[in-house]
Amino acid sequence: TPVIGVLALQGDVREHLIALAAADAVARPVRRPEELAEVDGLVIPGGESTTISKLAVLFGLMEPLRARVADGMPVYGTCAGLIMLADKILDPRSGQETIGGIDMIVRRNAFGRQNESFEATVEVSGVGPVEGVFIRAPWVESVGARAEVLAEHGGHIVAVRQGNALATSFHPELTGDHRMHGLFVDMVRDAG
Ligand code: GLN
Repeated sequence: TPVIGVLALQGDVREHLIALAAADAVARPVRRPEELAEVDGLVIPGGESTTISKLAVLFGLMEPLRARVADGMPVYGTCAGLIMLADKILDPRSGQETIGGIDMIVRRNAFGRQNESFEATVEVSGVGPVEGVFIRAPWVESVGARAEVLAEHGGHIVAVRQGNALATSFHPELTGDHRMHGLFVDMVRDAG
C-alpha cells in the first residue's frame, strides 16, 4: 500500500487525508523534511498559496520539496496546490515562490472576478465527468510542450499532468468522489 503525505502547513489537509484513505492509500500529514523523506507521494492541498509558500520556506521544506519533485516523486496539487506546482505564476504576491514541476503559467484567483466560487461538471481525460468545486480558483494560462492538458472549463485549462505531477484548479477532496485521488494513488503505485 502506498504511503502518501499531505503537505500540512495550511489548507484543507484533513479532507485530502480522508479522500486518500478512501482511495486505498495510507495517508499522513507532512510538516517536516524527515516526514517528507518517508512518503511515496505527496498531495499539496487547497488553501492560500502565498501562505503555503511562506510556511514552506520557514519550515525548511521548500528545497526538499523541489528536490523530491525534481527526482520524480508523484505529487498532486489542488487549487493553491496547483499554483505551488507551476513553474511560473503570472501575478505572484511579493515573496511568493513555487515548488514548480509543471511547465505551466498560472493566473491566481482567475475565476474570481466573474464568480468567487462555483461548481461545474468537468470532463477529465482518462477519468470522465467530475464535479468540479472551484473556490477563488486559479486557471492555467498556458502549458509547455511537456505538460498534458487533462481538462478545460469555459475555455480555460483546469487540469494538467506532466510526468508524475498532477494538478487541478478544483477540489475533488470536497466532493466525496474519490476518482481523482484514485488516479493519483495509481500514479504513486506505478512509480514505486
Ligand atoms: N486563491 C487561492 C490562492 O491563490 C487558492 C484558493 C484555493 O485553494 N481554494 O492560493
